[in-house]
Amino acid sequence: MHKLDSRRIVIASHNAGKLREFADLMGPFGFEAKSAKEYGLPEPDETGATFEENAYIKAFAAAKATDLPALSDDSGLCVDALDGAPGVYTANWAELPDGSRDFAMAMQRTEVAMQEVGAKEPAQRTGRFVAVICLAFPDGQAEYYRGEVEGALVWPPRGELGFGYDPVFLPNGFDKTFGEMKAEEKHGWKPGQATALSHRARAFQKFAQARLDVA
Ligand code: IMP
Repeated sequence: MHKLDSRRIVIASHNAGKLREFADLMGPFGFEAKSAKEYGLPEPDETGATFEENAYIKAFAAAKATDLPALSDDSGLCVDALDGAPGVYTANWAELPDGSRDFAMAMQRTEVAMQEVGAKEPAQRTGRFVAVICLAFPDGQAEYYRGEVEGALVWPPRGELGFGYDPVFLPNGFDKTFGEMKAEEKHGWKPGQATALSHRARAFQKFAQARLDVA
């Protein structure tokens, strides 16, 4: 396992919502973190069939191009009534013919698919957000940290905060969707704090505990 002695790290993402959350999560650790977008790197095609494969594609491409360690996140929403869809295709479900993304449409599409299979009652509408963080090095070595948060899908969407599918995801034990939660509530986590809430914060917590020597 390579040492992570450099405080320079690339965040292998072009997704503004994810980048904001990484900036919040990494803030306390004194990283000089620049995104793949800031390095002017192209977005690689996510051709993998798993979160791990896609996370590796993104992290390794950025590490190789910059000769620095790179951290990526591949994530998605897995709905039980849809046999885990949209899953690794969560971002694709938002894609428009011109290549831009419309998440209001993507949430609607998910809802239509759930109605089609008769998933109307809360107990039939369970699912989880999954995030796999990959730390990759320029020579191709890599390691993975997975975070998941269980919840249920609500309709109509609630809240304007966050990004992506946040307004339809109600995490178990809470009465607010991710779209109604402030950044601190959704993904706030600091060393010493018990488990974070969001899938990304949970994955990051594992990374920090393994690599940044924190409790
Ligand atoms: P990818 O990891 O680039 O394949 O994209 C994952 C997609 O999942 C994002 O574009 C979002 O739509 C969705 N997603 C992942 N994490 C979150 C989250 O924390 N909130 C809302 N949507 C998310």
